[in-house]
Amino acid sequence: MKRPFASAQRLREIAAEFPTPFHLYDERGIRENARQLQQAFAWNPGFKEYFAVKANPNPVILNILKEEGCGVDCATSTELLLAEAMGFKGEEIMFSSNMTPFESFLLAHRLGAIINLDDVTDVEYIAQLPSIPKKLCLRYNPGGTFVVSNSIMDTPAEAKFGMTRSQLTEAVRALLQLGVEEFGIHAFLVSNAVTNDYYPALARTLFQVVAELHQETGARFTFINLSGGLGIPYRPDQKPVDISAVSAGVRRAFEEILAPAGLGSAAVVTELGRYMLAPYGHLVATAIRRKETHKSYIGLDACAADLMRPAIYRAYHHITVAGKEDDPHDHIYDVVGGLCENNDKFAIDRPLPQIELGDLVIIHDTGAHGYSMGYNYNGRLRSAEILLRTDGSAELIRRAETVDDYFATMKFPQSVRL
Ligand SMILES: *Cc1c(COP(=O)(O)O)cnc(C)c1O
Repeated sequence: MKRPFASAQRLREIAAEFPTPFHLYDERGIRENARQLQQAFAWNPGFKEYFAVKANPNPVILNILKEEGCGVDCATSTELLLAEAMGFKGEEIMFSSNMTPFESFLLAHRLGAIINLDDVTDVEYIAQLPSIPKKLCLRYNPGGTFVVSNSIMDTPAEAKFGMTRSQLTEAVRALLQLGVEEFGIHAFLVSNAVTNDYYPALARTLFQVVAELHQETGARFTFINLSGGLGIPYRPDQKPVDISAVSAGVRRAFEEILAPAGLGSAAVVTELGRYMLAPYGHLVATAIRRKETHKSYIGLDACAADLMRPAIYRAYHHITVAGKEDDPHDHIYDVVGGLCENNDKFAIDRPLPQIELGDLVIIHDTGAHGYSMGYNYNGRLRSAEILLRTDGSAELIRRAETVDDYFATMKFPQSVRL
């Protein structure tokens, strides 16, 4: 059973102080999870998690992860500037972008970030930087289907990311010519993989390719970037991944493939987003309307603009009603927002306890790819973000947008007086 990380009473207190809807984050959970990850990979002295900023770009959250020893993974100039503002330095920043404007490479280079090349044509842009980086990463796309334990996990052949195997060789050779001294390899093949087998299978693939590239070109590979993709149990019947089992699987592959290839001092690094944050966020909303037509609807003050995943991926997000966790789930509701969009549904045909207007409705697992994917459709304003501190206090870490924010980028005709 999934329960909110705060009691119904605490949630009501917080909602009395900060109007709903808001995203609420759990500092304790974030820190404990980050520590477990570091502990699990402690066998690898160079291990580092580069948190994928796009999953949750809130500065206070980034600072918590920084304190826990994480770096950041950025994909755009804005994310790089945020990383710089937060005091991430040099190789604490991974720059894993694609279709990259040259200006972004320039900025990444100025910050001393590790640049991860998505394509063989990126080499031409690297050659034009003010100086050639000593260390670079290359993104691999093996094509075909990616199979783990006999089941197809995803179809890299359809993914826009990364280079083919032969392009990797071509890129390494060209970069060696330019004077690059150290290499890493990266691949992101499966998203939200809720299995202990994904990272070990990915690691095996990457270790093999690195061993080959080292043989073919003599290039020195000093790190393997397993990227993101580790999943979390959005559904209450799913089991979370066992991070020590995941790490043990990566270690076995490391010792079988990488160490014998003479690359035993390489670092294993990750760019996890969802795994670091998703379970430690709730979207807290109030039931504001009820409607009975061909179905029973509960209308929230939150909508898909606060959490896009159900609308675009048909993703499941667990819902609890504060204080009614143990009531019989004997009502079937569609829980919806107020956008003029029929996909604005947090849940369809969901068994829930009877919901009264004014009840606090908790949408789980919104800590990653939640607020950050928000948008302003229908003039909906972005919500606040609140941090539940380890000491139990609640802190506003981003205020809600106001109508003035919404109007700020608009140019009104002169005849209109605001
Ligand atoms: C999105 C992304 C991540 C993080 O993905 P999660 O599924 O949140 O772990 C990591 N690396 C890159 C390059 C990404 O685009």
